[in-house]
Amino acid sequence: MHNNKGLKSGFGAEAMGSNMEFQWSRVLERLKAEFDEGVYNSWFKPLALVNVDEGCAVMAAPTRFMRNWLQSNYAERIRLAWSKENPDVTDISFIVLSGFKSPDQGSLLDNDEQDENETNSPKVKKRAPSRAASKAAASSDTRVVQNNGGSEFGAPLDPRFTFDSFVVGKSNELAYAAARRVAENTAVHFNPLFLHGGVGLGKTHLMHAIAWANKQMFPERRVVYLSAEQFMYQFISSIRFKDTMSFKQKFRSVDLLMIDDLQFIANKESTQEEFFHTFNALIDHHHQVVISADRSPTDLEGIEERIRSRLGWGLVADIHPTDYELRLGILQQKANTVPDVEIKTEVLEFLAKRITSNVRELEGALNRMIAHATLIGRPITMEMTQEVLQDLLRANDRRVTIDEIQRRVADYFNIRLSDLLSSRRARQVARPRQIAMYLAKALTSKSLPEIGRQFGGRDHTTVMHAVKRIDELRQTDSVLEEDILHLERIFST
Ligand code: ADP
Ligand code: MG
Repeated sequence: MHNNKGLKSGFGAEAMGSNMEFQWSRVLERLKAEFDEGVYNSWFKPLALVNVDEGCAVMAAPTRFMRNWLQSNYAERIRLAWSKENPDVTDISFIVLSGFKSPDQGSLLDNDEQDENETNSPKVKKRAPSRAASKAAASSDTRVVQNNGGSEFGAPLDPRFTFDSFVVGKSNELAYAAARRVAENTAVHFNPLFLHGGVGLGKTHLMHAIAWANKQMFPERRVVYLSAEQFMYQFISSIRFKDTMSFKQKFRSVDLLMIDDLQFIANKESTQEEFFHTFNALIDHHHQVVISADRSPTDLEGIEERIRSRLGWGLVADIHPTDYELRLGILQQKANTVPDVEIKTEVLEFLAKRITSNVRELEGALNRMIAHATLIGRPITMEMTQEVLQDLLRANDRRVTIDEIQRRVADYFNIRLSDLLSSRRARQVARPRQIAMYLAKALTSKSLPEIGRQFGGRDHTTVMHAVKRIDELRQTDSVLEEDILHLERIFST
């Protein structure tokens, strides 16, 4: 985990007198009396007071999951406890601060940092977030942060998205190495760095990590991260307020510009035009640019050709779908950050094997397990996992592709793939073909015509016939039944 000491020391130092601390400890006392011990220890104890400002008490939770849970289940009770303690507090909010250890006294301030000299130092003051910032952070759904990373027009950075919390595997090692290179150097080695890959594979995480690391190493640099969508909205508002000059200036004065999800500006011509000029200006001045998108530059439909070609001039790093080891590594790392819940390796292995779509879903599954375990106070077992994640597991099962089915079935029956797809009617290829069609229907969500098309352009009635025929044969032909069970097992692991 990255060092959060800096974050800790800054929070609300000005507003947080010992009186606030005292009130916070009384609020916790009230909650302790109101709830049973398990609930108190799971949900309230890990909280830390950040600040009380203009009637709003801001508290920090160590994970986004906990923040959301508190927000939807306990917000009102906590607010009441506050208002009983201090009638001026009419509102509360939560932010996420990962990696901090909640101290026993439940405050984010270390004792030595509550010393008067320290709290009055300009450094501490500068870091204290405004109430607006805390509130914005608390209400934003996904990207929660304590400050916006020092730039007035970039998007907030998620403090959890650092290099330390990024697990490296074969599928993302190039992207990771390139990201580190960009973060740790002021000299430009490749420009732009273009990261691409499917949804939930860590593009945004890496970009935030670049920003955090770069700011830490070179505090003077101007680092700006924002999504292509935000870039567009800022551009549009600069037109509306007839202020495009300052829009241009501010973007061109940046040392490191990162634009996420570039595919968003597909078919948005004037935004692309502006993007192109900004991009060229920065590159010409040897300022680093990092771009992400869900596909490679050449595949970015709806983006002008001149942009696509320039995007490929630097380093293009592809993030591939995760493999089993990487998924397991990510799960282990995430599980370690959750205190008081024990998850057996066996369960983590099972999840890594079965939830293959993307990291976001993997995290979602883990969070669901943890919520369940905490709620009913039961250890996480295999049985419970299968029960709680039923829908998710089924959805992931269906992600087998027709391609894969065809290859596996051809392998299994020892025939050539081209024969499987051909129009040959010999029994030794026709039956495996029917079996493959049957499995395509059973294991994917593709329609009959779609399956027919992928089997060498056959009619949907042929597929229907195959499905019916194999269904019947399964009842009578025990050898065939064995074959099918075997194949189904292959696809479910
Ligand atoms: P993308 O921007 O590519 O859609 P994100 O960066 O938002 O994906 O990642 C989705 C979630 O998965 C985030 O919570 C992120 O922290 C997590 N994640 C993705 N890849 C990794 C990794 N290699 N190690 C740790 N967490 C990861
Ligand atoms: Mg993203």
